[in-house]
Amino acid sequence: MYMRIDKLQIELPKPTEPDPSAAAAVQELLGGRFGEMSTVMNYTYQSFNMRGRDKIKPFYDLVANIATEELGHIELVAATINSMLNDATESVNPVDAPLSSILGARNLHQFLTNGNSAVVANSMNAPWQGDYVFNSGDVILDLLHNFFLENGARLQKIRVYEMTKNPVARQMVGYLLVRGGVHATAYAKALEDLTGVTMTKMLPIPKIENRDFPEARQFEEQGLHRKLYRFSVNDYKDIAAIWRGPHPSGDGDCEVVNGPPEGGPLADLPPAPENYAPGYHPDELAEIAQRLMRAM
Ligand code: MN
Ligand code: MN
Repeated sequence: MYMRIDKLQIELPKPTEPDPSAAAAVQELLGGRFGEMSTVMNYTYQSFNMRGRDKIKPFYDLVANIATEELGHIELVAATINSMLNDATESVNPVDAPLSSILGARNLHQFLTNGNSAVVANSMNAPWQGDYVFNSGDVILDLLHNFFLENGARLQKIRVYEMTKNPVARQMVGYLLVRGGVHATAYAKALEDLTGVTMTKMLPIPKIENRDFPEARQFEEQGLHRKLYRFSVNDYKDIAAIWRGPHPSGDGDCEVVNGPPEGGPLADLPPAPENYAPGYHPDELAEIAQRLMRAM
């Protein structure tokens, strides 16, 4: 089962100018084949479905625990997209076509089916699909797939980074490059333990270091590339059997952190009444909520 903390894994910069074109590109990192929906669902279903889990506990714990961190990555990418869509429409009378400012946007579904917000789809608005999940049941093959998935995700994050200088997008990508680096290294170490093949020698894929990107470098300087968070109060402790020893970067040891990152506040974006988010008369809704809270 899950518990939830109402924070993001990091604090994002304040929303800047509306940036719907870049927000459409960032959708690839949410709902693309290599996006965060895919990492979450791949590791989650692999953990649900793993047989003989007590006999191979460190590998079960690793997949189940990383799956949980990935849930927070969906949240972080969605928050980034929402921030980039902030103020994209104007609060004027419906007759004056308040949504016309985004008619040329690359992803109209962010505005038409959603209220100026993230969709569960890729950068071309193709919906995320369940067949992006690979779960053969063979633990070596599944871990090898996960290693591939993390590196495919890394390539696409770098490409999105190269498409936009939006500070919110770049901060999110910088953090996720570092976290994805931990996951790729963790799956590589698991495969080394299982097969003896030195998988970590293949990294990084593509051949460019995270520290070459300032927004990723700041997190590496805090040692986040060596830390695997344990996203549970009492469980998944056997990740420490895999995440141990010198980190391949050569600047220290792999470290399990018992608990989630400290995190940062989730921005409370203002209402967009022109697009009925959260309603055409948000003040009336706020008044009802106030009344309910006074009665508590
Ligand atoms: Mn991720
Ligand atoms: Mn990952």
